[in-house]
This record gives sequence, structure tokens and C-alpha cells, in this order.
Amino acid sequence: MTQAGSDRADVVIVGGGAVGSSAAYFLGTDAGFSGRVVVVERDPTYARASTPLSVGGIRQQFSIRENVEIGLFARDFIGRAGELLAVDGEQPDLGFVEGGYLFLATPEGRAVLAENHAVQTGAGADIAWLEPAALAARFPWLNTDGLAAGTLGERGEGWVDPNTLLQAFKRKARALGAEYRTDEVVAIEHDGGRVHAVRLASGDRIACGTVVVAAGAGSGAVARLAGVALPVGPRIRTVYQIDCRESLRPRLPLTIDPTGVYVRPRVPAISAGCRRPRTRTRRPGRSRSTGAGSKRSCGRRWRTASRPSRRSS
Ligand SMILES: Cc1cc2nc3c(=O)[nH]c(=O)nc-3n(C[C@H](O)[C@H](O)[C@H](O)COP(=O)(O)OP(=O)(O)OC[C@H]3O[C@@H](n4cnc5c(N)ncnc54)[C@H](O)[C@@H]3O)c2cc1C
Repeated sequence: MTQAGSDRADVVIVGGGAVGSSAAYFLGTDAGFSGRVVVVERDPTYARASTPLSVGGIRQQFSIRENVEIGLFARDFIGRAGELLAVDGEQPDLGFVEGGYLFLATPEGRAVLAENHAVQTGAGADIAWLEPAALAARFPWLNTDGLAAGTLGERGEGWVDPNTLLQAFKRKARALGAEYRTDEVVAIEHDGGRVHAVRLASGDRIACGTVVVAAGAGSGAVARLAGVALPVGPRIRTVYQIDCRESLRPRLPLTIDPTGVYVRPRVPAISAGCRRPRTRTRRPGRSRSTGAGSKRSCGRRWRTASRPSRRSS
């Protein structure tokens, strides 16, 4: 039988994905913090973690000002990520494509789109308002039937390679002193609203005063170990990769149809995704999309994208 190990850290971060590794990075860069940080990650291949499976989109188009401000912070950070996340002079290349997000609205969604646009530009985001004629002029491949307006991020929106971002945060966090352990947090010792230690599947125990829950879709389950009800849990998301022989010109932004279906280039293919159709109608303005969550097919808006023709890069 293995003797359980005992250790001590100032901060234990549960989960070493994008959120946990960026938390470790920001603690490492905080001049007012000099404690020991241990990141516990149960699967360093990240096979089922959200980060490498995500679409890597960076945007400022949200309906709530705080989210827009977070998006603006991300825009500035991504713009300087090479320099900020460099280790030994080696700068990561996140492959940031500043392709913009294009949100589309039907006549029913137009008012919500306008409301969101006012919040975004009020917070300083560079988002253009496009009437249908402007949409057609800018994106000749777009079927504008039934569209009432669109909003397009002119600067700072696009997509990165999410796994490169995660690995860059992790490498930099380590260089700044964070320690990564391959193990699973299975219990959190706590009383009187304070945590004292985490217990690991290996049998080890790490005493600590602070636990950061960054367990992705498993965060609700981890928070429960500390007696905290956190309404975070797994939800099904689906992404399709569709081969295209022809690239759209001008380039396809990360486009979100009024149904909530989104599509972005992934040369020479496109990636398209959607949420699981809901049975209840979501309150307008609280969803990612700006239309009612109908089950309308996504085929017609981008039908030109998959028409066979000559291959271009
Ligand atoms: C299909 C899809 C598309 C997306 N597109 C975008 C997008 O375009 N833009 C965007 O900003 N976001 C997008 N997201 C959301 C984004 O991926 C997540 O918000 C982000 O990756 C969450 O990072 P995380 O570190 O919290 O979670 P994860 O990357 O899931 O990492 C959590 C880690 O915690 C570990 N863990 C869990 N429990 C324990 C435990 N008890 N002990 C130890 N380790 C544990 C897991 O192994 C995992 O590695 C998308 C998500 C999906 C699924």
C-alpha cells in the first residue's frame, strides 16, 4: 500500500485547462502575490476538456456590458500574447485570425441586435451596424432573404487555436513557478466557510488556504465538494467540419445565423456548430443568437459555401 503524501500550497487550482492555466499565469504575474501555486489536472492530454475542443472564438459582441469589457480585455491580451506568454524568448503563435464575428438578425431580432450593439459600442468595442443592403454589398455570397440587419466586429474579433493558447498559458505559468500535478481532486476539506485542504485520487493531501475551481464542465461537481452550490454542468455542443472546395471571398467571418447556428472558415473546410434545439423559447437577448431559437435548417444561408468548384487555399 502506498503511503499517502502530504503537501502544502497557498493556492490549489483544480483543472489545468484554459481557465486554470490562465489563473496560474495571472497569479504568477501578480507582483503582490508570492505564494506557491499547484495546479491539479487529472488528464494532461485534455482529451475531453472543453478548451481544445472549442472553436477558439474571441469576441466583444455580448449583450451585457461586463462581458463586453471581458472581451475587450481578451482582445488586448491576444494582441500581445506572443510577448506576454513568451518563455526564454520563444513567442507562441496563437494563429489569431482577425476575421470578425457577424451576428445576423431577422425583423423580430433586430431590436435586440440594436440594443446589444449600443451596449457594445458604448463600452468601446469596434462593431459595425450593417443594414441588409450593406450586408449584401460586403458579403456577396450571403443569402440576405429574411434578414433585417447584422453586426460585424471590425477589430479584435476572430479566432485562435485554442490548444496553442492553453499550452502557452501552461508553459508560461510553469516558467513563473506554478507546479502541475497529474491527479484528481476527489474531496475538499472545509469548515466554517473556509477550505483547508484538497484530497486527491492518489491518496495524497495538499493543505491550502485557497482553492480555485477551474474544472470546466465539472466545476459544479468540484464546488459541491466544498459545500458550494455552483450551477455549472455539462451541456451538449456539436461542431461539424464540412469540406469546401471553394473559399468564400471576401472571407467568411465567424457568422451566427438568427437560429444560433454558427459557421467559420477552417481552410479548406468550414466548421459549423449549434446548440441542441430547445423546446422552450429563450428570452431574447440572453442567448448567443439574436433570433428566436427555432429548429430551422441551417443549409440555406451558406449554400454557396459547399457548391463544388475549384479548390482554393
Ligand atoms: C464546441 C465548443 C465550442 C466552443 N467555442 C468557444 C469559442 O468559440 N470561444 C470561447 O471563448 N469559448 C468557446 N467554448 C467554451 C470554452 O471552450 C470554455 O469556456 C473553456 O475552454 C473552458 O475552459 P476550462 O479551463 O474552464 O475548462 P476545460 O478546458 O474543460 O478544462 C477543465 C479541466 O479540469 C479538469 N478537471 C475536471 N475535474 C477535475 C478534478 N476533479 N480534478 C482534477 N482535474 C479536473 C479536466 O480534466 C479539464 O482538463 C466552446 C466550448 C465548446 C465545447
